[in-house]
Amino acid sequence: MTPSAGGDGPIVLAGPTGVGKTTVARALAADRGRFVFSVSATTRRPRPGERDGADYEFVSREQFERMVDAGEFAEWARVHDRMYGTPLRNLAGGDGRRVLLDIDVQGAAQVRGNVPSAVFVFLLPPSLGTLLARLSGRGTEPRDEVARRLRVARDELARVPEFDYVLVNDDLDATVAAVRAIARGDAGAAGSLRAARGTAESLCRGIATLLARDLDILSE
Ligand code: 5GP
Repeated sequence: MTPSAGGDGPIVLAGPTGVGKTTVARALAADRGRFVFSVSATTRRPRPGERDGADYEFVSREQFERMVDAGEFAEWARVHDRMYGTPLRNLAGGDGRRVLLDIDVQGAAQVRGNVPSAVFVFLLPPSLGTLLARLSGRGTEPRDEVARRLRVARDELARVPEFDYVLVNDDLDATVAAVRAIARGDAGAAGSLRAARGTAESLCRGIATLLARDLDILSE
């Protein structure tokens, strides 16, 4: 695949839950002249501080299904038992600005099929400890839920090779600068793909070990 990074296609940020995609997307979208955030539709409830129409378009299950039937989504997926979708109209972009999608890995695969100009960026957590802390809600989630989330993360990490760019999100400013570089078509500035893929593989191995030990580490 030839990434059209320097072009004008949407930039898709994907990666495991809790990796900080939304924070990165929001930091980029603050630059309103260059980027525009694609507000997804979702059937989940708003969290405190979230605004309808800005963070998400919060819709009922019935509304979401009507939008699916009417062909209004560029992609949609069920994530943690809730529905999420990118309205097609968001991809029209605006005035030469790059559209940013903060979506899950299944959604990214659909965009790959539907939007040839899109550029795909996978965000990795810097370590297994960080991923585990985020997926376990820092200890508040039950063990079987953490195991379920880890299995999802493992399956997502296995899809890293499908992406044009892989970034380890250990420093917000550096990640934001790397995505800006990707948007400019300056791929070299985005860091070493091989190193990032190595990180993805070692995270997968670490998750396999944790699951095999039935998450003993959580009670240590
Ligand atoms: P949250 O509920 O925490 O905001 O998001 C949960 C997950 O859903 C995150 O991985 C987020 O990137 C993903 N997500 C948000 N919007 C969309 C969307 O429109 N499509 C898909 N496929 N995933 C989305």
